[in-house]
Amino acid sequence: MKYDLRNITIEELKNLTSDLGMEPYRARQIAQWVFRNNAGSIDDMTSLSKETRKKLHEVAGISSFTPEKVVTSADGSKKYLFKTADGCGVESVLLPEKNHWTLCISSQIGCTLGCRFCYTGTIGFIRNLSAAEIVNQVSAVLKAEGLQEKLPNLVLMGMGEPLLNYEQVVKSLKILLSPWGFNFSHRKVTVSTAGIIPQIQQLARDLPVNLAISLNAPSDEIRNFLMPVNKKYPLKNFLYEARSFPIPSRKRITFEYVLIKDVNDSGEHAEALARLLQKIPCKINLIPFNEYPGAPFKRPDEEHVTAFQSILHQHHFTAPIRISKGSDIVAACGQLGGSINVGNKQTP
Ligand code: SF4
Repeated sequence: MKYDLRNITIEELKNLTSDLGMEPYRARQIAQWVFRNNAGSIDDMTSLSKETRKKLHEVAGISSFTPEKVVTSADGSKKYLFKTADGCGVESVLLPEKNHWTLCISSQIGCTLGCRFCYTGTIGFIRNLSAAEIVNQVSAVLKAEGLQEKLPNLVLMGMGEPLLNYEQVVKSLKILLSPWGFNFSHRKVTVSTAGIIPQIQQLARDLPVNLAISLNAPSDEIRNFLMPVNKKYPLKNFLYEARSFPIPSRKRITFEYVLIKDVNDSGEHAEALARLLQKIPCKINLIPFNEYPGAPFKRPDEEHVTAFQSILHQHHFTAPIRISKGSDIVAACGQLGGSINVGNKQTP
């Protein structure tokens, strides 16, 4: 197909409908069918005349994802595996919260950054996802779970570094956030990054979404070891950006801190972290490491985790402990990619 209507913004759709000689209001009408009404084909667009649909058919189609596999965890989390047109696997995870769902989606197949604690990092980088492939994860899960009317929170925290696929991620977010698209509230959408400075600045200018930074260390020495990207964008530099990131009212930056036994989980590490983040309006999510088969690290015991949290509380930080859901189905933070076929290659 020449145009994939799931990969198109309203501006592009206006140009397309104008080129096809359609009335200007048709662009919004078509967008509503494609995104809100989750139309599977142009023939589903019953408010368009047969002739208009025929014109559209000649140049466009609608891509979609159908779940290849859905695995449900004992805690209610669901991991979805989708297959792209070129045979790659993409994973998304739906997580139950108290009163709502959170949907964690992927932005790349694999990842270039190779963080040592992350399973996705071990499978290498295959390719970026297109905006349509990002959007299609959302529409497939909404459809499967009947969540179109009660939209979940959305986090780009699955496979990949979203800010290294900037153009397609921003395009997909425009589709997801716009009233002509899925109409997600920007309060419900979070982009998580390992700290890619130029794109953090750009994101602040482009979209009013929440920002989460995967921090995981109170010093460059430890962060260089855990996250090689820190050598390019050291702590001091991206924390400067975090301090100046325009935070809309009632929002805070979230720092993710994966607690790893004997690496970054001591009382001294907690004190150093508190000093590092002072004066940044933030929340620190403490995530005890999720072990996976062959993992090079161990999860700290509960007392260590609670002691670490208490020190942050003494320094007046909000620091909830996030016990990752879905670890029994290898769907927890840092575990995605374990059941995908990458092209013809099965990951371990
Ligand atoms: S933690 Fe995120 S950025 Fe690091 S390797 Fe995993 S997917 Fe990539």
